[in-house]
Amino acid sequence: MNRALNFNAGPAALPEAVLAEAEKNWLNFNHSGMAVMELSHRSKEYETIHEQAILLLRDLLSIPDSYEILFLQGGASLQFSMVPMNLLTEGKAGNYILTGVWAEKALKEAEKVGETFISASSKTQQYKSIPTVNAKTSENAAYLHITSNNTIYGTQWQHFPANEGIPLVADMSSDLLSRKLTIENFDLIYAGAQKNLGPSGVTVVIIQKELLSRSSNHLPTMLNYNTYATHNSLYNTPPTLAIYLLKLVLEWAKELGGLTVIEKRNEEKAKILYDAIDCSEGFYLGHAEKESRSKMNVTFNLPDEEIARSFLHQAKKEGFIGLNGHRSVGGCRASIYNAMPVEHVFQLAAFMKKFRRYN
Ligand code: PMP
Repeated sequence: MNRALNFNAGPAALPEAVLAEAEKNWLNFNHSGMAVMELSHRSKEYETIHEQAILLLRDLLSIPDSYEILFLQGGASLQFSMVPMNLLTEGKAGNYILTGVWAEKALKEAEKVGETFISASSKTQQYKSIPTVNAKTSENAAYLHITSNNTIYGTQWQHFPANEGIPLVADMSSDLLSRKLTIENFDLIYAGAQKNLGPSGVTVVIIQKELLSRSSNHLPTMLNYNTYATHNSLYNTPPTLAIYLLKLVLEWAKELGGLTVIEKRNEEKAKILYDAIDCSEGFYLGHAEKESRSKMNVTFNLPDEEIARSFLHQAKKEGFIGLNGHRSVGGCRASIYNAMPVEHVFQLAAFMKKFRRYN
């Protein structure tokens, strides 16, 4: 069977090898006579999967022992609320750098919890860039929140702000595991799994242990990070199938050569598409400014709406899936996460060249 040319923004393409491995074990996991979904989350078989997923994350991302790795549900969107509920204490302000719709949504949830402060924003520039200069933090900053990759606009932080005494919190939903990272530069990282890590249904949180002392005992149990840290994310039933698939993706990533190889591959893939844009004599117009370009989501426009519609129509006919830009910005977007094969990116670049020639 030919795999689809799947450029969806998330849920997104998963490595074929991972799906094949899951299929092999579908009915009878590890000679248990049961599918993974049928295992008790208190069973030895499931516990092993759970532990392996945590260990692989620790290994691949070089996460020090001073950080907890947690598995939650509710997507990154629940983290928009949990971050301020746990970290935004009385008299302090949640500081936010606005680089897109997801950052705005995170801010909106924090506003419901306590005081907030906008440290920087590129909203007036239609979120075409990352505002790396002029970011100011409030004197009473509880934390500084950023979105490392802006899935909708196709921008990505290239150099992270220094966390000088203020905990740095990052929504890495669309680029965790796609490039090398110094975890110690962050205090809390969260990511919904459905782009680079696995299927939807599990959210990974990496939190500096010291930060856990901020959470009030009055928080609802399931909204307190300590519940997950104390019970190894097994206080209640975790999303066992999603965590199993996450484990398989992490094994695949390790086998590929880890983050050094993955980062290089992602740079190569992004270059193929940005070259197609830059060599088009203005036919394709990238949304993001060059120095802020994302290696995960390549966003671009065409000379006018009619040509853009025709591009998307033709692309669909030729089997390219998910190239429509997000409904809030329009245009086109090619999401090229870790699992996207280089050949599929070459095929898209070739299609872009061909379309340009005939239009
Ligand atoms: N943050 C970013 C950067 C995202 O790309 C998304 C989803 N596309 C979200 C947050 C929201 O994630 P979820 O749907 O898992 O709540």
